[in-house]
Amino acid sequence: MNNKVIIFSAPSGAGKSTIVNHLLGLYPELEFSISATSRAPRGQEQHGVEYYFFTADDFRRMIAEEKFVEYEEVYAGSFYGTLKSEVERIWAKGNTIIFDIDVQGGVNLKRIFGEQALSIFIQAPSVDILRERLIGRGTDTQEAIDRRVAKAASEMEFAAGKFDYVLINDDLQTAKSEAEKVVGDFLSK
Ligand code: 5GP
Repeated sequence: MNNKVIIFSAPSGAGKSTIVNHLLGLYPELEFSISATSRAPRGQEQHGVEYYFFTADDFRRMIAEEKFVEYEEVYAGSFYGTLKSEVERIWAKGNTIIFDIDVQGGVNLKRIFGEQALSIFIQAPSVDILRERLIGRGTDTQEAIDRRVAKAASEMEFAAGKFDYVLINDDLQTAKSEAEKVVGDFLSK
């Protein structure tokens, strides 16, 4: 099968980026889909690396021009979306796209790409552990952590039954090998 996509969704702090980066290092045919966002860059983030950064006005204009496969206002005032041009760029190279996207976006992408897509939900062991991990990361304010934890709890409920595969990230090493196997099987189809 050509033109495949792999969708990873998880509450933030569930270890999604670690697992996605591990897979990107392992399978050279995988390429990360860089999303567009209207939020400000954090830390060392650069345009065209972690995200394509736009103002909210530019983002709205691109929505009107139908430039997106999907988009969402993930947090109030912060838009995130997948550009059609990004999907075309990666498929043109013969690569398989990896999406790291919020839960609602993941469900939408699975609906759009159907059999071409493998959708994986990464579940953190519990809301308490998720909170500890976010505190440990040290990049968010208390208010942001509370908001993310509340969002995570509702996402876990919403995700049940909507993904092809649910990966429980209790032990990172186990979760990585499980992800390797599921993704490897999908790539060889
Ligand atoms: P962050 O601001 O922490 O980088 O990302 C916030 C949330 O936006 C995460 O849950 C992330 O998965 C989600 N996100 C990133 N890119 C996209 C996208 O293209 N579309 C949607 N719907 N969500 C995205």
